[in-house]
Amino acid sequence: MSNSPSNKPIDRRRVLSFMAAAPIMLGVVPQGRANTEQATASSAKPMHAETEIFRLMVGEIEVIAIADGYTALPSQIMLGLDPDEAQEAARLAYKNYDPNLISIAVNSYVIRTAGTIIAIDAGAPSFLSPTVGAWRNGLDLAGIAPEQIDMMFLTHMHTDHVAGLVDENGKKTLPQVELVLSETEWTDSFDDEKMAYLPKEFAPFVQYSRGQVLPYKDQRNLVSMKKETEIAPGVFAVPLPGHTMGHMGVRIQSQNQSLMIWGDIIHSPTYQFSHPEWSTIIDADPALSAAARTKLLDQSAADRTMVAGMHLDFPSLGYVERQNNSYRYISAPRNYGG
Ligand SMILES: [Zn+2]
Repeated sequence: MSNSPSNKPIDRRRVLSFMAAAPIMLGVVPQGRANTEQATASSAKPMHAETEIFRLMVGEIEVIAIADGYTALPSQIMLGLDPDEAQEAARLAYKNYDPNLISIAVNSYVIRTAGTIIAIDAGAPSFLSPTVGAWRNGLDLAGIAPEQIDMMFLTHMHTDHVAGLVDENGKKTLPQVELVLSETEWTDSFDDEKMAYLPKEFAPFVQYSRGQVLPYKDQRNLVSMKKETEIAPGVFAVPLPGHTMGHMGVRIQSQNQSLMIWGDIIHSPTYQFSHPEWSTIIDADPALSAAARTKLLDQSAADRTMVAGMHLDFPSLGYVERQNNSYRYISAPRNYGG
């Protein structure tokens, strides 16, 4: 059965050796600041991911953004990227332009409603980069013990969203949690044919993600991609297929306020607000991903909804404005004292 969960243990050494070879396979030599420093000065201090948290009230629901860190991806992952347009996009976004690398933040969120604590995604593993992997420290900073978390909602099962689920000994970090994700995401992620959209070098990452969720198999609650599902009072799982066919966001609605946590609708805030048509090679359906992005950007701009995203610059809360034929991101202001 192609879609049945595999119990094969993850070969961590294979994952690590893939990471060592990845820059070459992907046609890039430097992999962000950390490796560049290591390459040039062997005595340089290793970098570690540092966390930050940011608290926000959406009506009566508390949202805590947790910084897991940041990493860099080769620019080649972005489909349709034109260097001149990319440089102009970076200028419009007040971001540094790098022709070879796209640097992105990695974030996750925790929602506190009356009586329920919901974690949304669990960050990236530090073998991806020494500058990610601070999710657990973020929880500590927020004063939340793992055993207090009632529900873990996964926007999707890519490696940079599941790291906190299992510790280095392969044990569940959230033993009593209800694991909520879309049925499509679970099924597709265990189906090798469905995962064939990823370059074959990503196979160890797929294995890693499977290993992170499998211990929770008996605690899973799979939701439909056909409609929105209210997973807690005022908290809705919203289907946003494209990046993966089971990719979902979370909409929070309380006392006439709302927040849309859109998962991986945007990977690069530098480029994709002005070029929402640029998808990535890690999108299951790049055309559908671009359509989902454009639709949600358009809707967020029209409704003036606050948005949040796993790869927006921390604190990763803001608004979308229309600008000519594309969009612009406005970081949320702080409204002190109401
Ligand atoms: Zn991601």
